Amino acid sequence: MKKGYFGQWGGAFIPEVLYETFAGLNHAYEEARADASFWREYTRLMANYSCRPTPLTYAENLSKHFGGARIYIKREDLNHTGAHKLNNVMGQGLLVRRMGKKRVIAETGAGQHGVATATMAARFGLACTIYMGEEDVARQRPNVFWMEKLGATVVPVTDGSRTLKDAINAAFRDWVASMDDTHYVLGTVCGPHPFPEMVAWFQSIIGKEANGQIREQHGRLPARVYACVGGGSNAMGIFQGFLDEPGVELIGVEAGGKGLETGEHASRMVGDLASPGVAQGYKTMFLQDRDGQMLHTHSIAAGLDYVGVSPILADLGEKGRVRFEAATDREVIRALEMTMRTEGIIPALESSHAFVQAFKEAPDLAADEAVIINMSGRGDKDIFTIAHAFDDSSWKEFIIGLAAEYRSSYK
Ligand SMILES: *Cc1c(COP(=O)(O)O)cnc(C)c1O
Repeated sequence: MKKGYFGQWGGAFIPEVLYETFAGLNHAYEEARADASFWREYTRLMANYSCRPTPLTYAENLSKHFGGARIYIKREDLNHTGAHKLNNVMGQGLLVRRMGKKRVIAETGAGQHGVATATMAARFGLACTIYMGEEDVARQRPNVFWMEKLGATVVPVTDGSRTLKDAINAAFRDWVASMDDTHYVLGTVCGPHPFPEMVAWFQSIIGKEANGQIREQHGRLPARVYACVGGGSNAMGIFQGFLDEPGVELIGVEAGGKGLETGEHASRMVGDLASPGVAQGYKTMFLQDRDGQMLHTHSIAAGLDYVGVSPILADLGEKGRVRFEAATDREVIRALEMTMRTEGIIPALESSHAFVQAFKEAPDLAADEAVIINMSGRGDKDIFTIAHAFDDSSWKEFIIGLAAEYRSSYK
C-alpha cells in the first residue's frame, strides 16, 4: 500500500513548498519510531508529568444499575490538563527537540488543543503561536486566557467564517514561511501524512495500557470498547490496544447533535450527510455539499464539532472493523447526569457520547463480559455548557450577579 494511505483514505495533499519540511518530519518520526529509547523517554515523561499510566476504573455502581456487562472506564481525564490531548502534544514536543526546532504553531477550534500545545511549549521552552478563528476566540475566552498565561501568542483569524477551517489555513500559511525553525503541532489523527499515523502512535499508549489492565482486572479481554470520535485520536488511541483481537468489538460514537434527521450534527460515518473528499491535506469522509463546500456542523461537545474524520477510521469503518454510532446532545446530557450521580465521575461532553452507547448495549451482554469506555477527558471544562443544558436557575442567577459585579468594578 502507498505510504500514508489507509485503503483509499489519507495521503498528503500539500503545497510543493512544504515537501522538504514534510520529508524532514517523516524522517524524524520514522527514526524515533525505530528507536526503542524514544518510546521509553516518552513513557517516562508521561509518568512524571501526566499521571500515566492512567487507571482503568471498574464502575461497579453503573454495572449494577444496567445489570449486564461489567463496565470499566479508562481514565484519560486524569492526564495533566484533563484529557488525552496531552499524550499527542508531549510526543510531538519530544520530536521537536530531536529536530532541533525552536518554535511550535497549532490551530485550535474549541481551544483544548491550544491549551495542551501551550502547556507543552512552556515545558520544553519553545515559542508558541496558536491560530484560532475570531469567532472561536470570542466563544472560548477561558481557554484563550490560559493559552496566553502559559506564554503563547493567540492570533485571531479574521478570514472566511472565522472558525476552525480558517485557522487551519492560517497555520499552514505560517508554516510555509517559518518551516526552518517551526513545527506544526496537529491535534488529531487527521491531516496529511505522517500526522494521522504519528498522532495515532503517540495515542496508542492508551490502548497498550488498557489491554494489560483489563486482562489483570477482568482476567480476559473485553467484549466491546467504546470511544467518542471527533477527529478520532482518543478512539484510535484505545482501539490500537485491541485491533488485533478479533473477538473485541470496537465502537466509535460520533456527535448526533440535534438528531441525524435534522442535519444539525457532526456525524461523518453514520447518516448520509458526508461524502468522500480531499481537503486540509488529506482524503476522508467530509461533511460537505455537492460543490465541496464544508457544511456547518453542530454538537453540544465542541471537541466533536469537526467536518472530517481520521482516514484510519474511515478505512476501519469501511472494512467493518469499527462500528459507528451517533449519540444526540440530549442523550449525552442524560448519560452525563447518570455517571455523575452514580459514580462521582464527571466525563467531558465529548466522552459522554461513548457512555451513551455503552449504556444502551451493556444490559444485553452477559454478566461475565466486560466493556471499556474510553473517558477522553473530564467535564469540569464544560461547566458553562452543562449548567446551561441543565437549565439550572441558581447558576443563571450566579452568572447574572457575577456580570453585574464585574461591570461595576471594571469601570
Ligand atoms: C478534543 C477532544 C476530543 C475529540 O478529539 P479526538 O481526536 O476525536 O479524540 C474528545 N474528547 C475530549 C475530552 C477532547 O478534548
